Amino acid sequence: MTKIAFIGLGHMGLPMSRNLLKASFDVTGFDLVATAVASFAEAGGKTAGAIADAVKDADVVLTMLPSGAIVKSVYEGEGGVFAHAKAGALLIDSSTIDVATAREVSAKAVAKGFDMVDAPVSGGVGGATAGTLAFMVGGTAEAFKRAEPVLAPMGKKIVHAGASGNGQAAKICNNMLLAISMIGTSEAFNLGRALGLDDQVFFDIASNASGQCWSLTSYCPVPGPVPATPANNDYKPGFATALMLKDLRLAMEAAGGAGANTPLGKLSAEIYTAMDADGHGGVDFSGVIKHLAGKL
Ligand code: NAD
Repeated sequence: MTKIAFIGLGHMGLPMSRNLLKASFDVTGFDLVATAVASFAEAGGKTAGAIADAVKDADVVLTMLPSGAIVKSVYEGEGGVFAHAKAGALLIDSSTIDVATAREVSAKAVAKGFDMVDAPVSGGVGGATAGTLAFMVGGTAEAFKRAEPVLAPMGKKIVHAGASGNGQAAKICNNMLLAISMIGTSEAFNLGRALGLDDQVFFDIASNASGQCWSLTSYCPVPGPVPATPANNDYKPGFATALMLKDLRLAMEAAGGAGANTPLGKLSAEIYTAMDADGHGGVDFSGVIKHLAGKL
C-alpha cells in the first residue's frame, strides 16, 4: 500500500488528508499545531512528532502549508523532507506559493533524486472536504503520472499545466482574472443601481449577453439571482478577501519578475488591499461590491 506523509493539517490539509484515509492510503500526518494532529488521529490517521518521522518510510510526501518561506524550510531545513525522505520518493507541494520558490525547491528535489510537482488547488475548504478540488500540476510528465492517483481522491479535476512552477503560474493567473472579473461585475451592478436598473433585470440581460462571466453567473455579488452565493449570506466566505489578496500579491510579484504588464491586476490588488486594511479581510471577496460603494 502506498505510504503517504501529509505535512500541514490546517483548514485545507485536514479534510484533504481525511479523503486520502477514506481512499485506504496509509497516511501519517504532521503539523506544528497539536490540535490539528489530534483531529487527524481522530479521523484514523497515524501521526508523527517530527517531519523526519513522518517522511522516513513514505513513498509520497504531500505538503499543504501557508507560504513559500515555510515550504522552503520544511523541504530544505535540517530536520526537513530532503534530509529524511526515502530515495526516489514523490514530493507534492499543494500550497499556494510564489512561482520562483516552487521552481527552486523542485530543482533542488530533482538534484537530490526525488520527483517533485507543484500542485496548488482551487475549490476552497468546501472542495477539500467534498474531494472535488481542482489541481493544477507543474512538473515532468513522469512525475505527473505518479502524482495523479494520489491526487484523485481529493480532486475532481487534475490538470498537467506543464513544467515545474506552471501549476502555481496557472493558479495565480486564474485568480488574478477572477479578481478583475469580480471587481468589473461589481462595478456594473453598482452603476446599474445608480442608474435605476434592477439587479435581477440586469442579471437576466448580462448573463445572456457579452458581459457573461463566472463572477456574474456562478458567484453573483448581489443577493438574489444566484441563491447559494455568499452575497445571500451576508458575504460570509466562501473565499475570503485576505486569501484573494495573498494570491494577487503572488501574481504581482510574478508579473514584476517576468516583466509582464498587468495594470488591472495591479489595480485589483490595490482595491483588495484597501478592503483588507479597512478590517474586511475576513469578508468574502465578492463583498468588494459593498467596498466599492462605500457601504461595507
Ligand atoms: P492553514 O493556515 O489553515 O493551514 C496551514 C497549516 O500548516 C497549519 O495547520 C500550520 O500549523 C501548518 N504549518 C505551518 N508551518 C508548519 C511547519 N513548519 N511544519 C508543519 N506544519 C506547519 O492554511 P490553509 O487554509 O489550510 O491553506 C493552506 C494552503 O492552501 C495555503 O498555501 C493557501 O494559500 C492554500 N489555499 C487555501 C484555500 C482556502 O480556502 N483556505 C484555498 C486554496 C488554496
